[in-house]
Amino acid sequence: MSGGRAAELAANLADVRARIAAACAAAGRDPGDVTLIAVTKTFPASDVRLLAGLGLTQVAENRDQDARPKAEATADLPLTWHFVGQLQTNKAKSVAGYAHVVQSVDRARLVTALSAAAQNAGRMLECLIQVSLDDEPGRGGAAPADVAGLADRIAAADALSLRGVMAVAPLGAAPRPAFERLAAVAADLRARHPDATVVSAGMSGDLEEAVACGATHLRVGTALLGGRRAIVR
Ligand SMILES: *Cc1c(COP(=O)(O)O)cnc(C)c1O
Repeated sequence: MSGGRAAELAANLADVRARIAAACAAAGRDPGDVTLIAVTKTFPASDVRLLAGLGLTQVAENRDQDARPKAEATADLPLTWHFVGQLQTNKAKSVAGYAHVVQSVDRARLVTALSAAAQNAGRMLECLIQVSLDDEPGRGGAAPADVAGLADRIAAADALSLRGVMAVAPLGAAPRPAFERLAAVAADLRARHPDATVVSAGMSGDLEEAVACGATHLRVGTALLGGRRAIVR
């Protein structure tokens, strides 16, 4: 069985890598400048292990209660864990225990909580500011106008390092104009914080548009792992 799953993941990974290569060629970009992150939410730790065996080193999860046991079960592997979901401040302590990058920093209180948690854990946490690209509140993300203030707070925190921005394309709208807005926010951020070079954008359905708009990190779930089933909790 696991041999079949390994072959399936290898084929999916080859397809995704080919899509990234084609998108980079179309945009005149070097594929080496685009990092693929596997979003393993709802899939077992055994899949994380198989992906690592295929050479992937970047993995992402969006719920602390799923991420922590998976990170623990694969602690022997050389993986970088990205947290990409909406994060409550009371989960900051747990996330700071295993995550290397928190991509969903979107408010000042979360900066304070993550900074304290990382300091207590004796770890450095890399942070991306999640930028809201739609007018609908509630899906997480800071308004573009709030990014500069949040960036200064993260940069001033001892145990946090500001690395860039992250966004999810709005539902039911063309991704390209949204990713262009994100690119403008990212450029403004780099003007104040030159090391904040990461632009995390693009998922299974819109990675080509994200690459065209300068994404440095792609977060791909379905195209790598297959369709997610609804989880009953
Ligand atoms: C699930 C998820 C992804 C991956 O989405 P796919 O469409 O399955 O590739 C990317 N980013 C975030 C924040 C997610 O929650």
